[in-house]
Amino acid sequence: KVYTEEEIRKIIRDQNVRFLRLCFTDINGTLKNVEVPLSQLDKVLANEIRFDGSSIDGYVRIEESDMVLYPDFSTWAVLPWGDNEGGKIGRLICSVHNTDGTPFAGDPRNNLKRVVNEMKEMGYSNFEIGFEAEFFLFKEDSEGNWTTKPTDQSSYFDMASEDEGAKCRRDIVETLEKIGFEVEAAHHEVGAGQQEIDFRFDDAVATADKVLTFKMVVKQIAKKHGLHATFMPKPVEGLPGSGMHTNMSLFKDGKNVFYDKDGEYKLSKTALYFLNGILSHARALTCVGNPTVNSYKRLIPGFEAPVYISWANKNRSPLVRIPDAEEIGTRLEMRSADPTANPYLLLAACLKAGLEGIKEAKMPMKPITSNVFEMSAEEKKERGIIALPSTLHNATKYFKEDKLIQDALGEHLTQSFIESKELEWAQYTQSVSDWERNRYMNY
Ligand code: GLN
Ligand code: MG
Ligand code: MG
Ligand code: MG
Repeated sequence: KVYTEEEIRKIIRDQNVRFLRLCFTDINGTLKNVEVPLSQLDKVLANEIRFDGSSIDGYVRIEESDMVLYPDFSTWAVLPWGDNEGGKIGRLICSVHNTDGTPFAGDPRNNLKRVVNEMKEMGYSNFEIGFEAEFFLFKEDSEGNWTTKPTDQSSYFDMASEDEGAKCRRDIVETLEKIGFEVEAAHHEVGAGQQEIDFRFDDAVATADKVLTFKMVVKQIAKKHGLHATFMPKPVEGLPGSGMHTNMSLFKDGKNVFYDKDGEYKLSKTALYFLNGILSHARALTCVGNPTVNSYKRLIPGFEAPVYISWANKNRSPLVRIPDAEEIGTRLEMRSADPTANPYLLLAACLKAGLEGIKEAKMPMKPITSNVFEMSAEEKKERGIIALPSTLHNATKYFKEDKLIQDALGEHLTQSFIESKELEWAQYTQSVSDWERNRYMNY
């Protein structure tokens, strides 16, 4: 729903909103806020709130640092927690503009809109996305710092006894509903303390916005329960990692063009071409969907995370799975991305790769019917099944070789993304870990 200025002003009066939080993201998908008191409302609504972009990762240099926030009225929400005096906080997600009014190319949200427009020029109306973001709830110590002690010892879909984790998850769901989310499922995941909450699919930009709000709510409510929520992809070795499965479909005039009732797996040609685009660019895409050093510790065999580039309709080991659904629900589920991905960059890259696949109109490799992890090296080679990159370093190399995925981010974001990933890798390689000390100290 796109609220009008009048509606927003009325809600502010009715609900005693006293602060306005203006949000946008940096290159890493970290939520940035500028919070202003209500006295600034006119300026907020007239796109006159400025901030210094030079201190935001991946934005601009010091000498051209002024940026302006254009709030998107469709993102208006009153946060369910208030200020210290009983007043409420209103929230708007913004696009970042230059002082001359043009959209700033380094804003991941503007960039996603740009790629969505390319899709519209090809005649499609919506890129529909459903994310399945997983996370862990860990206990805090007596000083309020995180530990790696899970809230429970339950497992997948367990009816966990009424532990703190289950209560916390319910509180998260209720809070999400209060700010307008349609939560479709919430369940315990495979790992001890691991949870998943799924909300209904929506347009790409709206879903990317929602996932940021989602992470903010999860962390805030966990804190209230004395827990630490983490979206780190692999917080504890030997336990499953947390993914952010990305369900994608393309709509035209209200119809899902991925659906064909006579197609194999109910998939249309368009869906298969799109899938081929995703598979063809999977290695560079991985850098965007799995952008941290830790991401690659999740992409290993044995934990339902993908390792090889392949697809299937039932089997859960490949990169892309075709869930059993029809018409509106027909979709491709890409299982590689994790919740550290910047959702705007991830969706821009997926959409660009998929659209390229449609333009090329080539069929994807044959789907696999057995577990890829049980195939011999020869069998994988015969079928053309290659592995996803195994480290951030390798993924960055593939990203630097893939012109199309770079185009999906645009020049500005591509530059800052590469710089940021190379710096991260350099810092990691220079750090000395407990694993190394345990292994080598007695040498
Ligand atoms: N946690 C698994 C992953 O890393 C997914 C488990 C599931 O949703 N079936 O992707
Ligand atoms: Mg799921
Ligand atoms: Mg899951
Ligand atoms: Mg899934």
